[in-house]
Amino acid sequence: MSRSVDLFVIGGGSGGVRASRIAAQHGAKVMLAEEFRLGGTCVIRGCVPKKLFVYAGRYAHDLEDMAGYGWTVEGARFDWPTLVANKDREIARLESIYQRNLEAPGVEIIRDRAVVTGAHTVRIVGTGETIEARHILIATGGHPALGPAIPGAELAITSNEAFHLPTLPRRVLVQGGGYIAVEFACLFRALGCEVALVLRAEQILRSFDDDVRHHVADEMRHSGINILTGRSLTSITATADGKRVELSDGSHVEVDEVMLAIGRIPNTRNLGLETAGVIVDGVGAIPVDVHGRTNVPSIHAVGDVTNRVNLTPMAIREGHAFADTVFGGKPWQVDHHLVATAVFTEPEIGTVGLSEAAAREAGFTLDIYKAQFRPMRATLSGRATRMLVKLVVDADTDKVLGCHVVGEAASEIIQMAAVAIGMGATKADFDRTVAVHPTAAEELVTMRTKSS
Ligand code: FAD
Repeated sequence: MSRSVDLFVIGGGSGGVRASRIAAQHGAKVMLAEEFRLGGTCVIRGCVPKKLFVYAGRYAHDLEDMAGYGWTVEGARFDWPTLVANKDREIARLESIYQRNLEAPGVEIIRDRAVVTGAHTVRIVGTGETIEARHILIATGGHPALGPAIPGAELAITSNEAFHLPTLPRRVLVQGGGYIAVEFACLFRALGCEVALVLRAEQILRSFDDDVRHHVADEMRHSGINILTGRSLTSITATADGKRVELSDGSHVEVDEVMLAIGRIPNTRNLGLETAGVIVDGVGAIPVDVHGRTNVPSIHAVGDVTNRVNLTPMAIREGHAFADTVFGGKPWQVDHHLVATAVFTEPEIGTVGLSEAAAREAGFTLDIYKAQFRPMRATLSGRATRMLVKLVVDADTDKVLGCHVVGEAASEIIQMAAVAIGMGATKADFDRTVAVHPTAAEELVTMRTKSS
């Protein structure tokens, strides 16, 4: 006789873990299958290891800055294997916390791949066991896209492998213009690599505010990153001392490592969804309603596999809302608008709400306030970096529609700006707020002159 559960969750990442834990706390009998490592992309090979690498790169800037403040540090040197080993230890620690958080409310963890075999059945691939489930949650995330097959593509890595390189490459080519591509380009550069960033578009970070895009691209160029726009890779060949990458404009670049960061694809292939009649869209994502329900009522999906706002806090929230709604008798929906986000470039970006272009396209008449300035910290250090602060304001209602910050601590600043903007703050509310001085964030409440 097959075992049965109230909820079978496929995928032990941000969304699946939260949904399992909350459903179990509501009294449901829950089983969760994870084929790789608990914690999923964010913990194992996404946000967390990336931010640790970003921190590592920032020490290089700190060392540079210190001289202007009177410090002399002799013999400073960077050791990549130490960083990777320490990062791995931290990830293992987090993974065990995820395991404990699942076990505490009684979630049964299956360390294996699982596939759907019907509207209420799942098969554990390794053992062949079939589990009956009242509800099935697909939380399988996504994987890096490899793009069109080019000769030598197998010589390239993706973000997955970048976290485990045995040595730090001296010369790196990163392909892509999205946030993962620009973050890796910046962190490799900060760690001392020669970096080329190759993208098909004419500018990085599509859909971000144009001032932000230009500002960050300028800073990246200034740091020494060679940004090659309007181009793609046509082949990669191994050479005696690295890799030769041919580009679509006929030029080539010689590097030690090629990293593809051209997007991510939802993990729905060979998942058995067709056996249950679950519809997927053209990119393989699972369309869901406001409660995360697929076209099959007993099967839900959350997180990156639904390809909505592909960020950890959204997957977590969607998982939580699903569990409260289906098992807690407390239905609620996740709001996918006004999601604040950060990009850990150098300098970093914090953004919430509409870009100027999106606001104009939506028909708003706008007042734009922006300031570019040298952050105080860079004065004595002499570093030629500039900060950008921009508010997109609805001229008719005075409501702040978008806030964009580039510079040190932008990710921290934007979290609080998101609270105010989520509450409907107006420019007058920002103006009424007394500045915290001397900070960079005070610019947000002291900009008085419209720039357009
Ligand atoms: P995932 O976390 O991907 O979890 C899915 C899990 O399902 C995986 O563990 C996988 O092994 C498992 N799985 C798949 N198929 C099966 C199967 N058939 N059986 C069993 N298990 C299966 N987001 C942010 O908010 N901030 C950031 O700074 C940030 N940085 C990122 C950096 C990188 C390099 C990457 C790649 C992503 C980053 N993200 C960031 C995005 C974030 O990681 C994802 O949005 C988030 O992890 C999505 O959670 P999820 O639960 O949907 O899927």
